[in-house]
Amino acid sequence: MVCRNCGRAVPEGADACAYCGLPSAIEPPPKVHSYLAEAVFVTFLFFPFGIVSIVYAAQVSSFLARGDVVRAKKASGMARTWMFVSIWTGGGLILLAALALLLKFLL
Ligand SMILES: [Zn+2]
Repeated sequence: MVCRNCGRAVPEGADACAYCGLPSAIEPPPKVHSYLAEAVFVTFLFFPFGIVSIVYAAQVSSFLARGDVVRAKKASGMARTWMFVSIWTGGGLILLAALALLLKFLL
């Protein structure tokens, strides 16, 4: 959990923040999309860059667990970036292979 007042990580189940002492200042951490499902999916489609996406996606939840929302968001952005890199390079290779096959049949 994260303190709404000072933004520090508060242990699970604590009823007050240990740093500023505000009892009502505790709220669940903001949702940060991890892109883990998408990362796994693109890895099955286009292998190499999807792995990088999975690594960043896995970091999102571990940063969130530590209350480090800033790093979690950064990792989430990287997971998203590598997901698209994976899609574009993989998609490009498939397109090239399809074109090569097409040329082979035509010539
Ligand atoms: Zn606090």
